[in-house]
Amino acid sequence: MSDYRFKVKIYGVRGSYPIAPTEGTKIGGNTACVLVRTKNNIVIFDAGSGVINLGKELIPEILAHQKTKNTPFHITFMFNHTHNDHLMGLPFFAPLYMPGVFIHFFGPATLGLDFEQILRNFVAPQFFPVSMDEFRSTKEFHNLTENTIVYFTPERPAPKVGHILEPLPNDRELTIRTMKYYFHPKDGSYPFKAEWKDKSFVYATDVEQYIGGDQRLINFAKNTDVFLHDAQYTEEEYKMFAGYGHSTFVSAADAAKQAKAKKLLLFHHAPNHTDEDLLKIEKDTQSLFPNSELATEGWEWEL
Ligand SMILES: [Zn+2]
Ligand SMILES: [Zn+2]
Repeated sequence: MSDYRFKVKIYGVRGSYPIAPTEGTKIGGNTACVLVRTKNNIVIFDAGSGVINLGKELIPEILAHQKTKNTPFHITFMFNHTHNDHLMGLPFFAPLYMPGVFIHFFGPATLGLDFEQILRNFVAPQFFPVSMDEFRSTKEFHNLTENTIVYFTPERPAPKVGHILEPLPNDRELTIRTMKYYFHPKDGSYPFKAEWKDKSFVYATDVEQYIGGDQRLINFAKNTDVFLHDAQYTEEEYKMFAGYGHSTFVSAADAAKQAKAKKLLLFHHAPNHTDEDLLKIEKDTQSLFPNSELATEGWEWEL
């Protein structure tokens, strides 16, 4: 393991549904999953199919922790929303089956259901052979609202829940803020901002830009170091899919420019786009916002 203090790593980049590696993609076939972590705190944004590989990677670290310490190994999940492409990998996330692992789930209550109930329905016996209570890890569920701040202090690996109107302790190591984004069917999505010291990473997938850009999101992402933004469509495709909750690379570039982001990562790649299509989108985006690139599986930012 390299010597980092803060790290962002991408495990899934597709929207809608995963595509098989046999389809020849080097950019990545798995759906949404991004790891944000310090040495002691692990946060996972979304559990698309990419979370399966992440779970396998975490096993040696969990076993090493269990050999030397008597405390649970904490993992925090935060869900942008609960559409299938953001959840489908969860039942195959190996640490979920491990005793001594404590998983903290944060996600939105939508369409009248608590987040915990949404997850329980997702692994109901009609859909999956193991129910939520049969997974051997310890689990805790929190409804996420845009007033929620999730943060970590160095000596306590379990997440703490703060509120935007209350002061936060100064010894925070990692802080995750969120906002509700209204323009995603049928109950919105929740972009996240991970802050570590004076650096930040914004995860804004499943957003569809309003004309002129969504100023709430642009303010949320102001001056961020890395702005990951939905870019599912070309302008041509968007004519058929306006209202489905996703952006074009042109509006992603515009949001990055207005937010004065240092870097733009294009995300939620359409499953029908080949690597060639995506590289063309990357090139076209760079003509609008030079420091842009495609989110690819394995992409890492370490500090
Ligand atoms: Zn999605
Ligand atoms: Zn969605």
